[in-house]
Formats: sequence, structure tokens, C-alpha cells
Amino acid sequence: MKILVINCGSSSLKYQIFDMSDESVLAKGLVEKIGLPGSFLKHRRGDEDNIIVESNMQNHEEAMGLVIDTLMDEKYGVVKSVDEIKAVGHRVVHAGERYAGSVLINEDVMQALKQCIELAPLHNPPNIMGVDVCAKLMPKAPQVAVFDTAFHQTMPQTAYLYGIPLELYRKYGIRRYGFHGTSHRYVSERAAHMLGRPAGEVKVITCHLGNGASVAAIDGGKSVDTSMGFTPLEGLLMGTRSGDLDPAVVPFLMEKENMNSEQVSNFLNKKCGVMGISEVSSDFRVIEQAASEGNSQAQLALDMYYYRVRKYVGAYAAALGSVDAIVFTAGLGENSPEVREEVCKHLGFMGVKLDLTKNRVRGKEVDLSSDNAKVKVLLIPTNEELIIARDTKELVSSH
Ligand code: ADP
Repeated sequence: MKILVINCGSSSLKYQIFDMSDESVLAKGLVEKIGLPGSFLKHRRGDEDNIIVESNMQNHEEAMGLVIDTLMDEKYGVVKSVDEIKAVGHRVVHAGERYAGSVLINEDVMQALKQCIELAPLHNPPNIMGVDVCAKLMPKAPQVAVFDTAFHQTMPQTAYLYGIPLELYRKYGIRRYGFHGTSHRYVSERAAHMLGRPAGEVKVITCHLGNGASVAAIDGGKSVDTSMGFTPLEGLLMGTRSGDLDPAVVPFLMEKENMNSEQVSNFLNKKCGVMGISEVSSDFRVIEQAASEGNSQAQLALDMYYYRVRKYVGAYAAALGSVDAIVFTAGLGENSPEVREEVCKHLGFMGVKLDLTKNRVRGKEVDLSSDNAKVKVLLIPTNEELIIARDTKELVSSH
């Protein structure tokens, strides 16, 4: 069974096509700058080199059309006809409290996704557009939605409610939802596998450290707390997001800097985090380089970043009562030995012992802890697309 996985952003569209008989990726790619000058598609079949197709794509329908044409291309394609694509799995950011798992998309689901636009105004509209476009261009293929929020729906009220009147939760759904759920779910399952124990028995803290970043406490395969909240702004310091902040800073900024609500939200999401502190970049490769050349603001941004991740790990150790493993994943977690070393520093008291030689590794599944460490430190490359493809296959097969 061939399954197409789609992740549709406001001006981008990422795709992967899987052969589910062995879960291999037949091809993958992305379209960037949709609706903007210079739009292009980057496509790779198997282990071959990338090809770039420059094409003026005004909207997501044109982008998806080019993706399908490329997937069927005689020279670079992987299917002969669009009918070979048996189902499409979509990454959808927000399902509110409506879905705690993946769902086959029908009219009701579309309605629910539209209702969640208010909670994710930047993410849900392009996700919904991706579904609409695929329904139009591949009318025979059933479609499945896999939500970023779903995995965290197991959090207890004590973790997901904020200290504001309960009435506001009832009225507007103001609560912690959490994001990156597909990634936390995947790496926590792999962690149990690496520990050689059933997922239902292990307690892990998963650190998804990418451009956006979040930590989750996972008890017996269930998320019990996570650092992102009502929106992805809460929690860790991120590339350009401030993360945790005294809420009183918001009205203060609005008054002093003469900002309206949209401007302050834009500011906290796009101009803060390590970018705001370092004034160098939001990309850790650039910040690490600047710090190594003696830029003290870059070093400060890194130190603040490490410190906040470590603080969350400590908090979640307390939430879980005991910890079997700490998992690092996503761009930075998979590729930066420094971040893993600095986060694990000072965690010896709880049984964390990172092997610094083993830690000199990038992007592969490996146990980085010293042999006698009580708490394992695991590097697990995330694979959200595979989870989406698996869920899609399961839902399509059972209907
Ligand atoms: P996204 O949240 O956009 O999916 P990723 O998980 O791909 O992001 O992470 C991207 C970030 O990972 C980059 O901005 C960069 O800061 C960091 N990163 C990637 N590779 C490295 C590396 N080799 N060293 C340090 N940081 C890296």
C-alpha cells in the first residue's frame, strides 16, 4: 500500500510517499514560497540526488498538482497513476479537545478542524487547505488527520489547567494543549523499545529541540505534562519564541512599546528566543559558531537555552516521580552534542550520567549514557511522517 504524507504550511508543502509493505520512503520533497516569487519544488527519490523544479505556483492547488506530476514523472517518479496512492495522511496542528487520536477525515472532522482555527490561526488554515486540495486532486484516496495535540490529551487537569477562572476554560477552551505530540509519541515508543521494556512500564522525559522546542513527561506511554501550552509560545526558549514569561510583561510591553495585541504576539513569536538574546540568528549552528568566536551574547543565549531545558527536565522528573530515560530529538537534539552535554550537566544527582565519548554523534538512534547510569540518555531521531503513515494505514485498513 502506497501512502502519501502531507504537511501543509502557509507557504510550504512537505511530502513523503511510503511503501507500507516495508515502510520505506519511496520519495520525499517540499514546495517552498507558494504564492510568492521564486516558488520551487525540491524532490528526491530514494537515495538519489535532489532535483529542483522551478515553477510559478500561485496557490496550494498548483503546488499539490506539481507534487503529483512529479510523483508520476517518467524519470523521477515513483507511481504510474495517481490511483496507486491508496491514502493520504495529513499533519494537522490543532484538534482542541475533540480528538485524542488520528481520524479518518469526513465532513464532521472538517467542521471540527474549522472550529479549531481560532486556537491555531496560523497553522490550521493551511492544514485544512491541504486536505481540500488533496480531496480535489485525489478524490478516490481516503484522507486521515494526525494531530500535533492528540498525544497530549492524556494530561491530567492539574497539568493542563491554568490558574485563571475555570469559567474561561469552559467558555474559550483556554488550557494547555501541547504540541509536537506525534514526535513525543514516536520517540517515547522507540525509547521503550531501546530499554527493552513495554511502553506501559517506562517513564521518560522527551526533549524535542528543533526550531520550535518542547519537553514532555511521559508515564507508561501517556503524556502527563508538556512545556508548550495554549499555543506553541510557552515553555522553552526557542529559535524566535520567548517561551515562559511573566504574563505581566505583555501589557507592560503593549503600553511602553505602543503595541497592539497582534504586534505583541508577533513580537513574542518571531523576535525573541535565542534570536532576541544573541542578536545573531535563530539558527543554533550560527549561534554556536559565533559563541565559539567569542561573541558573549551568543554564549548567553545558549546558556539560557540549556538552563531552561535542564529546568524542565528537573520539573518533569518531579512530575513523574522517577525517570528511566531522557530522550533528545529534532534538529538540535539530534545534531548538537553541546546541547545534550549542557542539559545533562548537574543532573548527576538524579542518576543521569552522559558518556561524553558516546555523545560525539549525530542523527542516529543510540544510548549515550555511561554503562552504570541509572537514568539513560537516548538520542532518537524523530520520524513524525512514519507515524502519520502508520496511523493512516491503520485507519484506512480498518474501515
Ligand atoms: P523545525 O522545528 O523547523 O522542524 P528542526 O527540528 O529541523 O526544526 O530543527 C532545526 C534547527 O535545528 C535549526 O534551526 C538549528 O538551530 C538546529 N540544528 C540543525 N542542525 C544542527 C547542528 N548540526 N548543530 C546545531 N544545531 C543544529
